[in-house]
Amino acid sequence: MSFSSLGLSDPIVQAVTEQGYQAPTPIQEKAIPKVLAGKNVIAAAQTGTGKTASFVLPILQKLIDAPMVRPKRVHAIILTPTRELAIQVEENIQHYAKHINISSMAMYGGVDIDPQKQRLIDGVDILVATPGRLLDMYTRRAIHFDETSILVIDEADRMLDMGFISDINKVVEKLPEQRQNLLFSATLSKQVRFLARTAVTDAVEISI
Ligand code: AMP
Repeated sequence: MSFSSLGLSDPIVQAVTEQGYQAPTPIQEKAIPKVLAGKNVIAAAQTGTGKTASFVLPILQKLIDAPMVRPKRVHAIILTPTRELAIQVEENIQHYAKHINISSMAMYGGVDIDPQKQRLIDGVDILVATPGRLLDMYTRRAIHFDETSILVIDEADRMLDMGFISDINKVVEKLPEQRQNLLFSATLSKQVRFLARTAVTDAVEISI
């Protein structure tokens, strides 16, 4: 199996090849075609399986395929439990997007909010954010969700362990109803499935 045969185009395949990836991992083989097909997905995958690329690569593909009415208006939001993970996911996006014109940003609490506001004004296609800071930004009317068509909840089990359930639900409530939802979690516990029932309806389930 190759990255091209999963439906990814040359600039993306070239970027992953330059990262040294020779073939998709099992979670990538299963998730990428589903995400490209527009499905809602719930996936059980641990860190280290290549799960980040399994949602980032098809999101990039979808954004370059779609005629973006208003570029740089936050088309996709990836929620992560920690600042460290937000930074790491966003670094991956930069690597994978190096041959395409898609901008990304990591947004998290504990640092001055003004530079982050300015970055949003400059324009961001894919936002990787921790839930608290994202809500703070929304309350300050510094972010608009009107063009957001994809939501990813990454490491959902850790998010719940850290008490982010109500923040996640608040974010979900504010997003446009017409959107694609993806949830990744090391385990699909009862609590994770409960969250999925409200945020990720009609999902295809993947495990590796
Ligand atoms: P993740 O599970 O997303 O944290 O990824 C774990 C590590 O695997 C990261 O260092 C990725 O750069 C790497 N990786 C992701 N996909 C592949 C692949 N198809 N081939 C080789 N390495 C990969």
